[in-house]
Amino acid sequence: MTTRRDFLSSTGAGLASLAAPALLLPSAASYDLIVRGAAVYGSTLAAGTEADVGVRAGRFVAVARRITGKATDEIDGKGLALAPGFIDIHSHADGGLTLDPAAESAIRQGVTTVVVGQDGGSRVPAADGTTSFLKFFRRIEAMPSALNVATMVGLGQVRRIVVGVDNRPATRPELLKMTALVEKALASGACGASTGLEYSPGAFATRDELIALCRPLRARRLPYATHMRNEDDTLLEAIDESIAIARGARCPLQISHLKTAGARNYGKIDAVFARIAAAEKAGLDITFDRYPYVAWATGLTNMFPVWALDGGGEPFLKRLEDPATAARIKTESEDKAALIGGWHNVQLSNLEAPGDSDAIGKRLDDWGKSRGLAPYEAAMALLKNSKTNVSTVVFGMSEDNLERFLAHPKCMICSDGGAFAVAGPARNGRPHPRGAGTYPRVLGRYVRERKVITLAQAVDKMSGMPARRLRLGRRGKIAVGAAADLVLFDPDTVADKATFEDPFQYPVGIPTVVVNGRIALRDGERVGKGNGKALRVS
Ligand SMILES: [Zn+2]
Repeated sequence: MTTRRDFLSSTGAGLASLAAPALLLPSAASYDLIVRGAAVYGSTLAAGTEADVGVRAGRFVAVARRITGKATDEIDGKGLALAPGFIDIHSHADGGLTLDPAAESAIRQGVTTVVVGQDGGSRVPAADGTTSFLKFFRRIEAMPSALNVATMVGLGQVRRIVVGVDNRPATRPELLKMTALVEKALASGACGASTGLEYSPGAFATRDELIALCRPLRARRLPYATHMRNEDDTLLEAIDESIAIARGARCPLQISHLKTAGARNYGKIDAVFARIAAAEKAGLDITFDRYPYVAWATGLTNMFPVWALDGGGEPFLKRLEDPATAARIKTESEDKAALIGGWHNVQLSNLEAPGDSDAIGKRLDDWGKSRGLAPYEAAMALLKNSKTNVSTVVFGMSEDNLERFLAHPKCMICSDGGAFAVAGPARNGRPHPRGAGTYPRVLGRYVRERKVITLAQAVDKMSGMPARRLRLGRRGKIAVGAAADLVLFDPDTVADKATFEDPFQYPVGIPTVVVNGRIALRDGERVGKGNGKALRVS
């Protein structure tokens, strides 16, 4: 049997011959891989055209109705759709990848690239200065990761390093230091800058600070990606602020996981779209992303006012010892619970204290009942026992609005989820099912069943749009010269299986996934070892 290396040396195929037209190459086996007869999306052909796609040395080298050459390996794509590998523009796979670089739940959805470092919280630069973006990228390739990984620089992390976790404006020297860190991150290949303005310490940044930190994005035309300061009662003000920051820095804007949270805010969606349209009309390059679920996932602390979290978890617990402050915290927290329709809409997904592990997977009020506690007291107990490290899934969004967001021409698909597995070290707690279901859910429920968007639109929102947004160059399309990331799926059967009750279920209808020209999933079975790359952008 000929290995790929033998084949490359015997045919002389390499970088130099990549530009040569496919027909002129010596035959025997002119390709590493040919996928034959699938309906191709995301190429220069009309969407859904049946064609053959040839891959060599990690890239697409031929896309044609019929490729006559031979390949080392062939896949029959008849009756299936072939799309560029999905690019998850807002992913939290950074954690799961280090536990299990196979990234099962992402690969099995057809995701071939994740964009991490979201919500202001990138893993690098490290607080002690030991880990740089260069090191981060090297670590991804050494794993080796099954997925390609691009990362934003998290402005919350930058603030944590320079200012700390206190609620105060940055001084002038601190601002210069932070800007230099952002510059350095972008020079090392970060694909944008992210904030999490509902989280400590990112929330303590002023508008002016964020404008200054986003200015380095302008020359590179990379986006400011923001989990906005608010997604419910002051959603419109938060959108105004996001637009003002991008306008001030003159950089593109990516609103992360756009939503109208809480029933009393569902009606704001028209005003949201009007603001996006007005900003675009005024010249702003503005887009957003969204996952196909009506529940979000975040820390239980998010049910509490952000001022109470000033300084982190320990000061928060300390504040609760003062009766007057504790009363204020309770009032504001109960109001947040009312916004989402009560504590029953909070499901516990993970926590630290072994004694509370029976809470995982339960609704907060139900678990409280089992302990003889009112919901607020139950929340308090969980936070204290787990030193505030309690994660939740919260049901507080509108299904109608979800469909309107997905259908919006400026919307890309993201998971906002982690990478996990049904077995092994990446199986933990009861995570949001979006980490295993997002992409098949859009293709099955929102394309095939609900017809909210067409298949061609969905594929663009999952691959082409994010690639263009992050300037990922030759990715997100099936075109000669582009990186051979691809997913083969059955449009008639593709569906998500992961649920809030049991998220550890892989989707169906996605038999084959290829990353940089090498098969990662074949007929539903994982094969080979990781072939993902670190994507240095700027
Ligand atoms: Zn977020």
